[in-house]
Amino acid sequence: MTDFAEVSNLDILAEARRRRTFAVISHPDAGKSTLTEALLLHARAIGTAGATHGKAGRRGTVSDWMAMEQARGISITSTAIQFEYRDTVINLVDTPGHADFSEDTFRVLSAVDAAVMLVDASKGLEVQTMKLFDVCKQRGLPIITVINKWDRPGLDALALMDEIRERTGLTPTPLTWPVGIAGNFRGVIERSTGDFIHFERTPGGATQAVAKRFSATEAAADEGAAWTDAVDEEGLLTIEGQDHSEARFLGNETTPVLFCAAVLNFGVRELLDTLVDSAPPAEARADAAGRRRPVNSDFSGFVFKVQSGMNSSHRDHVAFVRVCSGLFQRGMVATHGTTGRPFATKYAQQLFGRDGTSTDEAWPGDVVGLVNAASLRVGDSLYAGEPVEFPRLPMFSPEHFRSAHPTDSSKFKQFRKGIEQLDNEGVIQVLHSELRGGGTPVLGAVGPLQFEVVEDRMKNDFGSPIRFETLPFEVARIVDEDGAELLRTERQVEVFERSDGALLALFSTAWRLQALLRAHPSLRVDELADVR
Ligand code: GDP
Repeated sequence: MTDFAEVSNLDILAEARRRRTFAVISHPDAGKSTLTEALLLHARAIGTAGATHGKAGRRGTVSDWMAMEQARGISITSTAIQFEYRDTVINLVDTPGHADFSEDTFRVLSAVDAAVMLVDASKGLEVQTMKLFDVCKQRGLPIITVINKWDRPGLDALALMDEIRERTGLTPTPLTWPVGIAGNFRGVIERSTGDFIHFERTPGGATQAVAKRFSATEAAADEGAAWTDAVDEEGLLTIEGQDHSEARFLGNETTPVLFCAAVLNFGVRELLDTLVDSAPPAEARADAAGRRRPVNSDFSGFVFKVQSGMNSSHRDHVAFVRVCSGLFQRGMVATHGTTGRPFATKYAQQLFGRDGTSTDEAWPGDVVGLVNAASLRVGDSLYAGEPVEFPRLPMFSPEHFRSAHPTDSSKFKQFRKGIEQLDNEGVIQVLHSELRGGGTPVLGAVGPLQFEVVEDRMKNDFGSPIRFETLPFEVARIVDEDGAELLRTERQVEVFERSDGALLALFSTAWRLQALLRAHPSLRVDELADVR
């Protein structure tokens, strides 16, 4: 363990500089799990692809904590994986693949410094890719685009570039260009050198792909038309101004593009190199007031994910914290921003770090999992020394509403505790209304699968099975006191108080909301609340 007293500002700056913290965003099935395995393999974190990342049938990881998750084959939770590559520490934060958990994804994206947008070469930009892309853009996250599955028949490479430009507004600046059309992946032109990187298949893709470098002259002789076609296309990119510029990438004007076949481990090393060479390191983060806390100031971080029941034998409650500044050491006493109380990390039994094992320290850019941190809520700040309050994580406007009732009223205590816990974890939004009586919470979800998680967790984790009643509302908006007052007298609308104090008006339909807005020009409504 590093001696706290000996850690200098320079150490912290150096550690922050060698961190790359990113998430992969993609439409389901684009190959996120496969790419994650391939990245780990290339970083030599594991011996054989398929051994670490959990999907049904393979060895589980910390992300496979719910039987339901495995059964559905979707990743409900978010986990961080850390590995080293070229003396750089790479933190890959997993995002849930299913659209119903987009709020979780949103939170993860607040905790990373870059995103990798994974695109299926045969499908182009899909619905979920676009949604996630919009979130990244809102957050100003630099995006690296990876065109995956180039080993299979797919779209034309130039057409894909046009689609990216037209639909995202970012100029694609390929770093590599494929040699061979989709379905005949020979290798890539490395645009910075003009060299040909030839990929060779290895059985099952279960070891690192063999990549050999050839000069342009050699490539022209060996690859013939596939090479000259690729060179012609590559030339067009330069004419169109599609050359990589670090400043424009970091400024969200361009997106570097790589071509790969994750399942064959083709092009994966190039992605790691791009992360090391071009993705931003951990840098000073702005607090709620917009002040940037230098990375070498005292420890600070914020909770972006809270999760329970990862290990069914003992019900852990893990708060995932993104370290923003300073050195975090297990055992240190930090201050919990929301309550101002000391938070003793010596009670944290374990931090998930490299390979899911316990780590004793973490640096800016790292993610630590604080076990049994029941007092921490999503969005909370932790710090040592000078206080800091990081921006609250916005909550999505829910679109599905159900009231929750314990099926066994003698379990009311467990029921209340369970709902409160799930609220703290951000699994669901909890709304109350005096009209409905304090004991009957109304749950608001962005996607209906969230209700299934609640139902499952209430029964299995909290011992209070529940039943739902669907409420006849489709739209929610934040309103102020005046708006609430006004709407309480209207039909087909009901006002609730959310647990974060926000007033939420639930409308029967979007049409009803529009009608009320027309009838009351003074009514102000907000879609996303930053108040938590
Ligand atoms: P996720 O839902 O985004 O995590 O996608 P998976 O990693 O589970 O991949 C979905 C499917 O695409 C699986 O059958 C993979 O084997 C397959 N797949 C992933 N990457 C590639 C690739 O590069 N080429 C081909 N041909 N198939 C791939």
